[in-house]
Parts: sequence; C-alpha cells; structure tokens
Amino acid sequence: MAAEDSVDTIVEDRDRERYQPSPETEPVEPSGSLAAALQAACDGAVRFDEYTRVLYATDGSIYSAQPAGVVFPRDVEDVRAAVRVAADHNAPVVPRGAGTSLAGQTVGPGCVVLDLSRHMDEIQAIDPDEQTAVVQPGVVQDDLDAALESHGLRFAPDPASSNRATIGGGIGNNSTGAHSVRYGITDAYVEECAVVLADGSLIHTRDVVLDSPEWDRLVSKDDREAAIYRTVRALVEDNADEIEARYPDLKRSVSGYNLQKVIRTDSEGNRIINLSKLLVGAEGTLGVVVEATLSLVTRPDETALAVCCYDDLLEALAAVPEALDLEASAVELMDDEVFRLAADSAEYAEYAEPIPEGTEAALMLEFDSEVVDDLPDAVAAATTHLVDEGRAFESLEAFSPAKQDRLWKLRKAAIPLLMSMEGDPKPYPFVEDASVPPEELAEYVAGFQEILETHDTTAAYFAHAGVGTLHIRPVLNLKDGDDVETMRAIADDVTDLVAEHNGSFSGEHGDGLARTEFNPKLYGPQLWDAFKELKSAFDPDWRLNPGNVVYRGENSTDIRDHLRYGPEYASLEPRTTLDFDEEGGFSHLVELCNGCGTCRQTGSDVMCPTYRATEEELTTTRGRANLLRAAISGEIDPDELYSEQFQSEVLDLCIGCKGCQSDCPTGVDLAKLKAEVKQQYHDRKGTSLREQLFANVDRLASLGSTVAPLANRATKVPGARTALEKTVGIAAERSLPTFQRETLVDWYGARGPQLDADTATAGVVLYPDTDTNYSNPAVGKAAVEVLEAAGVRVAVPELGPTGRAAYSQGLLEAAADQGRALLDDLEPYLERGWAVLFVEPSDAAMVVDEYRSLLDDERVETLAANAFGVCEYLDDHRLDEALSFDGATTADTRLTFHGHCHQKARGADHHAVGVLRRAGYPVEPVDSGCCGMAGSFGYEADHYDLSRAIGSILRDQLEDHTRRDGTETTVVAPGTSCRTQIGDFEGYDRPTHPVEMLAHALET
Ligand SMILES: Cc1cc2nc3c(=O)[nH]c(=O)nc-3n(C[C@H](O)[C@H](O)[C@H](O)COP(=O)(O)OP(=O)(O)OC[C@H]3O[C@@H](n4cnc5c(N)ncnc54)[C@H](O)[C@@H]3O)c2cc1C
Ligand code: SF4
Ligand code: SF4
Repeated sequence: MAAEDSVDTIVEDRDRERYQPSPETEPVEPSGSLAAALQAACDGAVRFDEYTRVLYATDGSIYSAQPAGVVFPRDVEDVRAAVRVAADHNAPVVPRGAGTSLAGQTVGPGCVVLDLSRHMDEIQAIDPDEQTAVVQPGVVQDDLDAALESHGLRFAPDPASSNRATIGGGIGNNSTGAHSVRYGITDAYVEECAVVLADGSLIHTRDVVLDSPEWDRLVSKDDREAAIYRTVRALVEDNADEIEARYPDLKRSVSGYNLQKVIRTDSEGNRIINLSKLLVGAEGTLGVVVEATLSLVTRPDETALAVCCYDDLLEALAAVPEALDLEASAVELMDDEVFRLAADSAEYAEYAEPIPEGTEAALMLEFDSEVVDDLPDAVAAATTHLVDEGRAFESLEAFSPAKQDRLWKLRKAAIPLLMSMEGDPKPYPFVEDASVPPEELAEYVAGFQEILETHDTTAAYFAHAGVGTLHIRPVLNLKDGDDVETMRAIADDVTDLVAEHNGSFSGEHGDGLARTEFNPKLYGPQLWDAFKELKSAFDPDWRLNPGNVVYRGENSTDIRDHLRYGPEYASLEPRTTLDFDEEGGFSHLVELCNGCGTCRQTGSDVMCPTYRATEEELTTTRGRANLLRAAISGEIDPDELYSEQFQSEVLDLCIGCKGCQSDCPTGVDLAKLKAEVKQQYHDRKGTSLREQLFANVDRLASLGSTVAPLANRATKVPGARTALEKTVGIAAERSLPTFQRETLVDWYGARGPQLDADTATAGVVLYPDTDTNYSNPAVGKAAVEVLEAAGVRVAVPELGPTGRAAYSQGLLEAAADQGRALLDDLEPYLERGWAVLFVEPSDAAMVVDEYRSLLDDERVETLAANAFGVCEYLDDHRLDEALSFDGATTADTRLTFHGHCHQKARGADHHAVGVLRRAGYPVEPVDSGCCGMAGSFGYEADHYDLSRAIGSILRDQLEDHTRRDGTETTVVAPGTSCRTQIGDFEGYDRPTHPVEMLAHALET
C-alpha cells in the first residue's frame, strides 16, 4: 500500500480482509436469518461472530451480556434498514456510541447493536452566527469542541469522558459535566433531531407550537409520528400535577423520561412541544438519533481555579452553598481516596503532587471571565471565604492553562483511578450519581454514610458538589453472592434517602440496568404508567433498548441481572512465565479493565495507537482485555487463546508500545499480557521462521556487519526484497538497516577511553544495542563524545542483547536467557558502582521494567537502579551544565522532538528536551503517540499497512507542528524504530538522535 494512503482506506481494506466472520470460526448464518438479512439490507458491515459479540457485551458498567451481533451503519438509510430488518425478526436493537455508559445502557442481551461511532461521525455544519452545529451521532465530543474552537464556541455539556464519548451517547444519557453549575445538561442544547423510530420510519423533531397549523397537520396524519405527538401531549397534560410534584427541582436529574421538559411556554405565551427534549436521556429506548442540531455557547477567554483543602469531608460539603455564592462556574469535590490512588499511579502521581498532606477532601472552584470581571480577585475571594473565614485549611491557585489542566486531569481521573483498587472488592458504580439540592448535600452524605455502616462497607467520594451530584461508590466484591445482595439493599436504601432529600437517583449517568428498577419508586405509579404509555407510543413492541428507563411487568429489570463479575464468574489463573505478583495475578491484570473506554481516545497520550489507526473496537486495549477475559473465564473456549485467529487478530495487532501501561488509568498492561500469552502459544504451537529471525536480530546484524557492504548490496539485488517478503514475510516496501563494517564496539576498542580513571567523575557502560552497534555507530560515538566531555569515563564492551527482540516475539525463555547473560556481563561494572547507559529507549525499558517480571534474580533491582537513557543520565546529574555548546549553532537550529513510547511509559521522555534546551536549542516536543514501527512490527509484511497507518498519524502531527511553527525544523527522535519510520515518510530525512545534536554543538 502506498505511503500516502489514508487511514480510512486502510481501514476499509482491513474491514474486507479481516473482519468478515470466517467460516472456520463461525458458521455462516443460514440464509433468511437475522444476520444474513441485515447483511443484505445494509451497506455497512454486519458482524455476528463470537469475538464481536464479546467486544460489544460490556461497556463502562458492572454488566455484561452478549448481543446477537453488531451492525456498523454507514448512513441514515443503513440505520433504517437495520431497524426494519430487526423488527421483521422481532430482534431488540441497541444504539451505541463509544460504549462508556456506567449503568449498563449499552449492554443488550440478544440485541442487534448499532455502532454509530464507526462511520456516522461527521460534523455536517457549523453556523457561528446562530451558534449551532449539525452533527451525526458518532462525533466525539472533544472533536466537535476542537472544530468549534476557532469560532470561539463550544458544546456546553462536558462529561469527564468527552475525549471518546459521542454526541449520540451524550444525547442518550443526557450527559453533563463539571460545568453544569453554569450550563445545565445536554437536554438544554439539543434543538432538533432526525430520528429513526422502531419501525424504521424517519421523523424530524423540533419546536412545534401546540395548536398551530403545523401541529394540526402533524397530528391529523394516520402514522406513528402523529400518534406520538398526540400521546405525549396527552400524557403531559393529564399528569401535570404529578409531574410538578414528582420531578425534582434540580440542575441535574436524568432518571426517567423528560416529561417535565418536552412542552414549555415561551416568552410570548406559546406552548411549544419539542420531542428532541424527550429523546435526550431516553437511552436509546424511543428512537435512534441519526442527526442532531445543537446549540452552542461562547468559550470563556480565560479561567482560573481555586482548590480549597479540608481535613474533613462533611465540612467540605457543608461549604458548597457558600462556594456557589462566589459565582463559580464549576464546584467539584475530590476526596483523599482519589489523591491516594493518584499518588500511587504512574500516570497521575505528578498531578496529585500539589495537594497538601492531610487533605481529606478538596473543593475545586473554577471561575471564568464571562462571569467574573477579575479572575485573581475571584480566586482571592474564594480563599478569604473558604479558608480565612471558613473551614478549609489551605487553598491552591491555578491561573495558567497548564496548571489548571493538570488539576482537571486529576479530577477527571477519579472514576478510573478508583477502579484500579487492588483485589476483588472494588468501588462499583450503581448508586454513584444521585443528585440532591446542594444545601442538603452534607446531610445526604451523612445519611449515606449510615447506610454504608449498616451494610459494613466503605466508599469513595468525588464529583460535582456544586450541583448536588456526588459520585459515591460503595466498595463490594460482586463475585460474592452476599455482596450482590448487599448491592441491591444499598441501592434500595439509597433510593429512599434520595427521595427524602427531594433528589434524583441519577443526576448524571442515567438509569440503565442499574437504576431502572427503582424508577417506579421515585416517580410513583401514575408517572410510571405514563412512562409505559410513552414507550408504547414510540416503540409499540418494546424492542428499542429493552429494560432501560422503563420495563413491562413481566420483564422487570433487576440490578442483579447480567453482572460482569457475578457469583458465577470464575477465571482460570494460568501458570505463567512472567511474574504477575505485583498485579495480583494474570487474571487480575486482565480484570482491571473496567470498560471506561479511555483507550478509545484519539487526542493526546500514546494509548492506543492501533485504535487510532483503525477505529475498530477490536484494536483497543479494552477490546483485547475483554477477549482475554472471555477466554480465561470460559465465556469463550479457553483454548481459543491459542487459535490462529486469536493470535493474529487480538494479540499480534497489539504493537507492544506499552502506552496502556501508563495511560490506562487502571494500568491494564496489555504488552505484558500479550508477551505471556504468546509464550504459551509458542509452547504449544512452536515458532515461525520470521519470529525466530526477528528474535535473533542481533545475530543477524552481527553477520550483516561482518560481510558488509556485501550484505547491504544483497538486499538491493532486483527481486531480493520480493523474495524476502515471500519467504520470511519482511515487507518489501520497508527500508532495511544498512550494516557498517566497523561496529561501535570495534571503534571503541581501537580508540579506547580518552579520560583517565583518576580525572573522571564517574564511570558508565554505554550499552551497544543492535542498531547502534552494527548500523548506526555514529549515535554511540556521539554519546561517548558528550559523556567524556562531561568528565565521565566510558566503557563500550561487547555485550549480548537485552532480550527485547525475543520478548517482543513472546519468546520469553530466550529473552530470560539473554537477560541473565547480560546481568553476568554487567555485574563487574555494577559492583564498581558504574551506571549502564542506553541510547535506545526500548532496551532501557527492557532492563528497567521487563526484567522485573522476567527474571527472578536479585541483580535486576541493582541494574534497574543504575540503568538510564543517555539523556536521562545527563539530565539527572545535570552533567550537561558543565559542557560548553556553540550557542550560534544551537540557537539557529530549531528541533522538533518525538519521544519513544517506551520512554513515555517510564515517564522518561522529558530528559532529552531539557538537556537540548539547556544546550541552547529551541526544542518543541510533539504531543505524539507511537510511531507504529514497534521493533519488528513495521517490518512484517502483514502488519506493514497498519504500521504505516499509525505512522501517518505521527506524520500529520509532525506536519501540523512544522506548519504551526512556520520555520524549518530538524526532527530528533531517540528511538531507532521511530527514526526508521519517519525516515520512510516521503519528504523526510531520517531524524537524528538527541545525543548527536548535543555532540554536534559541543565546543571543542
Ligand atoms: C470514566 C468515565 C467518566 C464519565 N464521566 C461522565 C461525566 O462526567 N458526565 C456524564 O454525564 N457521564 C459520564 N460518564 C458516562 C458516559 O461516558 C457518558 O454518559 C457519555 O456521554 C456516553 O457516551 P458514549 O458515546 O459512550 O455513549 P454510549 O455509552 O455508547 O451510549 C449511551 C446511551 O445512549 C444511547 N445512544 C447512543 N447513541 C445513540 C443514538 N444515536 N440515538 C439514541 N440513543 C443513543 C445508548 O443506547 C445508551 O443508552 C463517564 C463514564 C466513564 C467511563
Ligand atoms: S483498557 Fe484501561 S483505558 Fe481501556 S477501557 Fe479498560 S480500563 Fe479503560
Ligand atoms: S501495548 Fe500499545 S498497542 Fe498494545 S494495547 Fe497497549 S496501547 Fe494498545
């Protein structure tokens, strides 16, 4: 495939090649069956295979149930056709966006799932004057916001999941976020919708003045739309008193149907019905929204934060009404559990650092320039009222966007962080978003605490204090039948408590399978009957997302049904080569995935590059973890783990970038899980020639170097690359390394150290990795030059591989042998207190990280403590400060830095930027992900297209960066793979290593 091919093209090719259910693994549905009929009727793919059913059996909730299959509609006509076919087969239908729901709204046993996120994701129009946007349902909220930024506009509801949640899902759940204090919730911003009803008909919902000619025309027809209008009006009018009495007067209330909002009176006294307001929060039970017209708000120019810290949770809550008087546009709460978990997490520890010790709870107040005239004054007033005159003991201030961003990241990480709690008891979401009037919050929480005590459990607290919505998650072990009953009992008690406080059982996450059961209690029999009548008017056969929001007598929804980890759940704990003790075992690491969907985000961070390139659920970390869980729990045949399909589709496409190790909020380390399962696969099925070749790349490179330049010429002989592709599967398009006759070790051996042991300030081993030693010794020479100039004595001994290449192929025993040999060779240096430096980040990560679970050897910790990337070493010891650089050279050379994903996983990618900047280079790091090469992955013929597709994201980021910058820049990248991938982009030279840039500017 040509390098210029777009990700989309590749995805389409992949669709055809890979995802049609294969006859070996899934019997073709008999003709006339549901799947075949859907396939015949829809342009988009239809998948009813077992893997797809597992992938779509869960969302971000505690539930799991396999659907019948999934349709990926390409357009409105596809949605209509799918809904009609499902109706003909009496099959239930669930529309789905990113599947991040927390109450089980997208878990539909036996349903046909419509994945609207895959193709129906276009922003169709933006009207800056009218402040509206027309979008398809699959548009990700952050993508819409990015498109609106240049117009100074935004879509107001901002759920914490906005970097992957779709507009359709936000409409389904009536989502909202931290700024609901100021802006309210989604139903206020959905003006019109195109909606496919349960019979496949398409209606257009909008403002219609009651009893106007338009109204008369609509209701005079003899169709479903007319029946709906008549029913809704009658229900609202007949139940007016009950609606007034039963719906809580809150900024957030998303339980039940929006009967209180569907008819309103405008300033001229017209009574207006807008069915769009009913569809919002209907959780896909009334129709499938295929297009929405949204109203937008202006973006504040500036914001500022005050974080007031308390040593008592109830005192923080009691201060909420006062905080609201300060004109804050968000008032958020975090408790010490969140701070503690963040401090222990690789990804979030730095965000929790500023929170002072002793903080049991913190109120975070945001002020914006549209509401307050003077931000510093507003922040100072918060400190005066809440700290000096109140009960907070300290206040943090954040004015710069970067500082605010870090505090918001901490707040938004609360849910996934809580789910990373070790062991089976977890803080589960089922009563986590009840909403009460803010002035009743402290009393409500005291009542909640009593309920928890009665049921002998604890909980974590955080969220939107300013609107009375608190996320409280009781800690339970749902694998234990008693705890499942406790969950039901807590939910029952909490509904009573919420009703006592005039609240709503859901102020944010919706009803789903977790809360629908309790809607009759909250709304009373009269409105419950109205809900049923409403549902019947829209969906006479009750086929749209059954069991959510409302149920029929015989099909009551029960909070205990369809649990992902119920009492019957059991998982195999396989015997493993790697040590999984730190993660609580292999199965525990798999089960850490709670479905939050962060691995579907496409903004910053590394995770998950394969999803970014394909937009397929199967290629998310979540998808892989779900399939692994299905196999170890027997949901699918456990031997499936070792099938060709599982290997090629689930594991091989994970490129082992380790992005999830640091970016997944619960630390689902898929690269490690993959390596383990690959080893087990090799134990059963052996290894291919290509796997052996790549695992032993060091030996091959050594041979190549010995016979260079012959080896280099051999690959250029016409037909040689095609032959290589056919025999060992190395992509013919990929440029191969060029071997040098003189290796780095040879060069150093001949040259020797240039610094006396007596004058050196320290001694280091420079590790001669495969690429540096045999193909690019210049990088190693540069490192030697810089280190010696900094007064460090360097040794470059002949050393074997770290085992990284074998590890990547899942040949763990071979990797372990290589690791032990390396430890033996390094031992004398480590005993002398020498550090071991790497120019190649993946080798550094191997010894610092992978050895810990690969080798049971006490020398591992000594090596890990003394192993550094070369720039990391210079930076940590500030050695570069003793060097003199040619300022004229550095100041004129603008650098664009792309960090290696393994460095990012270790949080070590910033060192090179710091050192280069101190040398005088203007350096801009790119907020890039993985380059897509991933060691051998990008060389493999069957992975070349995906590798290029991932690489093209990096290329776009580099280009955006250069365009934004406007001046010529030099790309620097420490990773060999990254340099190869970038060098293969059209119009790009192979980048240099940062240490080469340092050596280049050294003043002699
Ligand atoms: C870590 C985390 C944090 C969260 N934070 C928040 C938060 O701050 N605020 C908040 O409100 N929620 C939050 N949520 C819940 C969830 O992310 C939001 O409700 C989100 O808007 C759902 O979007 P989605 O695309 O994932 O929808 P999905 O989960 O796919 O679907 C949501 C509902 O909408 C229906 N639906 C989807 N598309 C359509 C359509 N086209 N037509 C009709 N119905 C449709 C579905 O059937 C389902 O009932 C959070 C979830 C997680 C995991
Ligand atoms: S893998 Fe991590 S980020 Fe992805 S859904 Fe699971 S827990 Fe969330
Ligand atoms: S290792 Fe990388 S490619 Fe694999 S699941 Fe994790 S983030 Fe995705």
